[in-house]
Amino acid sequence: MGRRFLYAAGFLALFLFSSPRYALAEDKTEGRYFTIYFSSGLDSRALAQQLNISPAEGIIAGENPGSGPLDLAAMMDTLFLQVCNILDMQMYSFHGAIKICLSRSELGSIYRSLFNAELGPMKSFYVYSNNTIYLSSEEFRREIIGHEIAHAVISHYFVVSPSVKIQEVLSGYVEYQLRKVSR
Ligand SMILES: [Zn+2]
Repeated sequence: MGRRFLYAAGFLALFLFSSPRYALAEDKTEGRYFTIYFSSGLDSRALAQQLNISPAEGIIAGENPGSGPLDLAAMMDTLFLQVCNILDMQMYSFHGAIKICLSRSELGSIYRSLFNAELGPMKSFYVYSNNTIYLSSEEFRREIIGHEIAHAVISHYFVVSPSVKIQEVLSGYVEYQLRKVSR
C-alpha cells in the first residue's frame, strides 16, 4: 500500500517500539535485511512453515548455500533478494523492520494509532519514516510481504522518489511475479 510521509506518526511508532508495554507483547529475530518483530502467541517456526521458502530458492536468489531448512529471518532475506531481482534494483546497504501482528484487528489498531484512520481493506502497509512493514499472520504470504518489501526497496533506491502511482504499479508487478511462483 502507499508510502507514508507522516513523520510524526513515525515517531509514534518508535515510541511504541520502545515502550515496555510493547516490548512485552512481542519477540524478535534478526536477519541480514530485516529485524522481524512478531506478536506473542506467534511462533517463528510456524510462520516460516507458512512462508515455505526453500534453500534452493535462496541459492537462486543469490544467497550462500547453508545447511538445512531456512529459518524465518533467512526466508525474509531470500524474499528481499527475490524482490530486488524482480525489480532489477540492487541494494547494497539496507536494513528494515517487519512487524507481524497476531490478527487483522491488531494490525488495524496499530494503523489507527499511527495514522488516526481505519485500515479498511488493506492487508499490510509500509511506513517509510521507520522503514517498517506491518502485516498480520493471517495474511502472511510471500506475495503480500513482497509487495511491501518492494515499497521499501523503491523508497530507498531512487534519489528522487517515483510517484505513488508508479510505486504501486511496480509493487503490484512484484506481487504478481511472486504469486505466480507460489502457486
Ligand atoms: Zn502498495
